Amino acid sequence: MRPGPEPVSIHARLPADVQVLERGWLSSNNVLLIGSEQAALVDSGYCTHSAQTLALVGQALGHRSLDLLVNTHLHSDHCGGNAALQARYPSLRTLVPPGEAEAVRVWDEDKLSYRATGQECPRFRINGTLEPGTTVSLGDASWEVHAAPGHDPHAVLLYRPDAGLLISGDALWEKGFGIVFPEMWGEPSFDEVAATLDLIESLKPDCVIPGHGAVFEQVDAALATARERLDAFVRSPQKHARHAIKVLIKFKLLEMKKVCAEDFQTWLSGAAYLREVHQRFAADRDLQEWSGELLNELVRSGAARREGDLLFDAP
Ligand SMILES: [Zn+2]
Repeated sequence: MRPGPEPVSIHARLPADVQVLERGWLSSNNVLLIGSEQAALVDSGYCTHSAQTLALVGQALGHRSLDLLVNTHLHSDHCGGNAALQARYPSLRTLVPPGEAEAVRVWDEDKLSYRATGQECPRFRINGTLEPGTTVSLGDASWEVHAAPGHDPHAVLLYRPDAGLLISGDALWEKGFGIVFPEMWGEPSFDEVAATLDLIESLKPDCVIPGHGAVFEQVDAALATARERLDAFVRSPQKHARHAIKVLIKFKLLEMKKVCAEDFQTWLSGAAYLREVHQRFAADRDLQEWSGELLNELVRSGAARREGDLLFDAP
């Protein structure tokens, strides 16, 4: 099924060379930076949306080529369109955060999290890394690269000081931040989320382009919301774990749109991540019963719909 059209948001606060392609939830936003000499893109969305990514990027570029692609981190909803963009623009250079560069070079899907999370990402190549502490030219400007661990240990964020503009990936959204994946496999990381929020506060951005959702300027309010949410997770890691699994289930439903209960169960039992989180946070519960309960919560909240033996994604 083809995803419907999604808007291109041209925000008044954005410099002339910056366009945000605000995408639906299965894909991350894409940020296009079209300068006089170079056209760059930050993040490429999920693979099942890559035809739409190519269309949106192609439309914005007109006759120009895309020269540089960078990823804030390597989750499948942020780099799933990399391969399609590389095929469309053969001279495209691609830079990723250094922490997973080697895993990309040898395409180690276990290290890259796609297998464990039951998600897909077509193999792509890289030309180099985005080293924290350096700057990178995107469009017409120089952007600082900062390490932003927490949601993903290797994530970076990009900051353009002259415009007070931050590309935050999944480290900060208008209402929260991405699930803290390392916590799920037993690496304490809530402190890193807090440190990354402190870093964002110290940069004092006037405007944030998040990995998902609309561009926003109320940065203090967003930081306060994120810290409240983080405190709740620190108080109850179980709550965070349940939330994380529901996000993963919802992500898969968004991708599949419709699935029979048996096929869904097969996917659930193949997702190593789910088994690991179950072992760590709910080992006293039967796995099927526990995952069924989380699915029921999604149905009750209206995020999924059940009709007989079929499960549907619900917007
Ligand atoms: Zn992410």
